Amino acid sequence: MPVGATTDLDDAAIRAAATLIQRSRHVAALVGAGLSAESGVPTFRGDGGLWTRFGEPTFDGWELFNSDPGAWWDDALAAQHRDSEFARALDSARPNAGHVAMAEMEQMGRLAHTITQNIDDLQHRAGCRKLTEIHGNRYLVRCMNCGGRDRLSTISLDRLPPLCPECGGTLKTDTVMFGEPIPEDALRECYRQAALADLFLVVGTSAVVYPAAEFPVMAKRRGAALIEINPEETDLTPLADIVVRAAAGAALAAIVDELRAETMA
Ligand SMILES: [Zn+2]
Repeated sequence: MPVGATTDLDDAAIRAAATLIQRSRHVAALVGAGLSAESGVPTFRGDGGLWTRFGEPTFDGWELFNSDPGAWWDDALAAQHRDSEFARALDSARPNAGHVAMAEMEQMGRLAHTITQNIDDLQHRAGCRKLTEIHGNRYLVRCMNCGGRDRLSTISLDRLPPLCPECGGTLKTDTVMFGEPIPEDALRECYRQAALADLFLVVGTSAVVYPAAEFPVMAKRRGAALIEINPEETDLTPLADIVVRAAAGAALAAIVDELRAETMA
C-alpha cells in the first residue's frame, strides 16, 4: 500500500459505509477494473489504459469464433506465444488488499454476492466464492452446447477446437468476446442479485459497460441503497447514498476493519 493511502481516507464516509453494510440484509457488489488495477492488471479505458494506448481491439471476435472455432483457437494459441503486455501483467498479478477485504466481508456474512467484470480470477484467488464473473474468466473454457466450465489447463488442446468432455460440444475460452451474449447463467444470477439486494457496493467501475452497469441502477430503483467506492466521479455518483472517493484497496480494507470493530462492540 502506498504511504499515506490510508490517511487520505474520509473516515466519516468509511464509518457510514460500514454501518450501512452492517444494517443491510443482502449486500451485493459490482466490481470493475479499478479494483484489479492495484494488482498491476492494466485497465482498458482511461489514462494509460490499453485501448487508449494501442487502440480498441476488433469488435468481431464472436463472429470470427463462430465462423471457424478451430482457426480461432489456432490464432489464440499462437498469440499466447507472442509478447502480450496484458497476458504478462495478468499472469503475474496477485490479489490485493481490496480483493482480500471483499473475501473477508463474504466470510463475515456481510457480503452476499459479488458480480465482477474482471476476467483475471483475482477475486476467486482471494477466496470469494459467491461470485459471478459476468465477462468470464480467462483461465476457464466454456462449452457452447451445455454451458459447462473447466480449467483451460486441464483441457487437451491436441485437437482444435477442443471439445467438451461432458457432451462433445465446442469449447471456447470463458472470456466473453465482443458481440458475444453474456452467458445465460451469469446474467440470470445478476438479475437475481439486483432483485435481492438492499445494498449495492459499486467498486472501481465507471459503470459504463452494459448490462453490468444496469444492476445497481435496477436495485436502486427498487429502493436499495448504493455505496460507490471510486477515486473518480462516475455516472453512478449522483445515485449513490455514500461515496468513498478512494482507491478500492485502502477503502475496502478500512471498511472491513470498521466492520470488525462494530461486530466486537
Ligand atoms: Zn458440454
